[in-house]
Amino acid sequence: MSLFQTVETPALTYEQPLGLFINNEFVKGVEGKTFETINPHNEKPIVAVHEGAEEDVNIAVKAARAALNGDWKRVTPSERGRLLTRLADFLERDIETLAVIEALDNGKGVTMAKGDVAASAGCIRYYGGWADKIYGQTIDTDINSLTYTRHEPVGVCGQIIPWNFPLLMFAWKIGPALATGNTIVMKTAEQTPLSALYVAKLIKEAGFPPGVVNVISGFGRTAGAAIAAHMDIDKVAFTGSTLVGRQIMKSAADSNLKKVTLELGGKSPNIILPDANLEEAIQWVNLGIFFNHGQCCCAGSRILVHEAIYDKFLELFKKRAEQNKVGDPFNTETFQGPQVSQIQYDRIMSYIKDGKSAGARVVTGGDRHGSEGYYIQPTIFADVTDNMTIVKEEIFGPVCTVQKVHSEEEAIQVANDTNYGLAAAVHTTNINTAIRVSNAIKAGTVWVNNYNTLHYQMPFGGFKESGIGRELGSYALENYTEVKTVRVHLSQS
Ligand code: ADP
Repeated sequence: MSLFQTVETPALTYEQPLGLFINNEFVKGVEGKTFETINPHNEKPIVAVHEGAEEDVNIAVKAARAALNGDWKRVTPSERGRLLTRLADFLERDIETLAVIEALDNGKGVTMAKGDVAASAGCIRYYGGWADKIYGQTIDTDINSLTYTRHEPVGVCGQIIPWNFPLLMFAWKIGPALATGNTIVMKTAEQTPLSALYVAKLIKEAGFPPGVVNVISGFGRTAGAAIAAHMDIDKVAFTGSTLVGRQIMKSAADSNLKKVTLELGGKSPNIILPDANLEEAIQWVNLGIFFNHGQCCCAGSRILVHEAIYDKFLELFKKRAEQNKVGDPFNTETFQGPQVSQIQYDRIMSYIKDGKSAGARVVTGGDRHGSEGYYIQPTIFADVTDNMTIVKEEIFGPVCTVQKVHSEEEAIQVANDTNYGLAAAVHTTNINTAIRVSNAIKAGTVWVNNYNTLHYQMPFGGFKESGIGRELGSYALENYTEVKTVRVHLSQS
């Protein structure tokens, strides 16, 4: 099978790389296997890509190690920044193609996908700006010493990303790692390998030396597990389910105790208090759960509404959710496309079934949308109780629960009654209430009067079982540097 293929889409025709990207070249996997990636809009294969497994990871790690000790080491911090900036420029240059690839492979609306490309370019450029601003301290301990710290790259970084924001997760991961001088073996999600392969081509075009970024398309239990267990990978950064996050941490511990950062699941509360601007709150609640078809780790899936406005809220929210345009990702008006895969579709539909049989009230939705593709109606459940599975477990689809609370205290207590702690929101027009509630909630991000407004300058990550470490902002740089202390004894003669 060849290494490139012309792909025709309703919007444009482009050349899709299919190989693994190792040492700046597209290559076949050692085992010679390929796998198909499916268009979730029509359930048909788009292309088959080459599949990487353990031996390919080994080859990629060797390339990354050689780059780390060779060409990449000699690239100055300012030049690293320039390379990242150039890559960001290329993402913007090719925004139409990249947005189309995301729409095709992931199913997100092409207009939303353009937003992802812009945010990815912004993130990479932001970290380009950091590249020559990373330095340690000089520490004055006594007259006989010179003590200073160096912030050195951790080394070869394994990065494993999910399918919900294929390009954006790629950007979040490579930005801080490259700015700080590391090299990368990236494993993309098996459902959505295409945009990263296209960006791999741009990485070469931007002028990164061979081996600095290597991209493996493949499966979790083979290529992903090989990264987590590898003896010559210094750090693993993972975004995905809490279940797999645990396995990765175990594997890291059992192998070489590589550093681990994890960005995992959530069941994020979205609190609406009686003094909220209800019309605005409804817009944010709608975006909070239905953006990206509910496939966001920080989705506001548990909506907690004060009793004083509960009925009015449900009436307005139902109306708003029913206005969301569900359909073909290539329609520029589409807000919600199909779920990413048959497996995800089935999982979500079984949660919906479970909610119905547990006695929750379906306010709207609750069924598939159309007859082809993995489409699900925006679904709101009301009159739910704390112990229902749909209230407790992450559904990762366009499904939310609306719970009635009787006070601010109860809202906080219910909000925190979860093992997750990724995000939360509170809607109120009282600044004191906003800050009091934000302080009381155990979550890595708290939005006040908005939701899902991530930005590459702001740290993002989880309390509790939602993760370890922070991505984005200056905080992410800490995940990718080792601090070395150098103490020099000064001779007095
Ligand atoms: P989801 O359930 O949303 O697909 P996963 O956590 O299963 O999320 O997958 C996220 C990423 O982790 C994907 O790239 C997937 O291939 C990878 N992955 C899955 N299982 C493992 C594993 N055992 N070891 C390493 N990576 C894995």
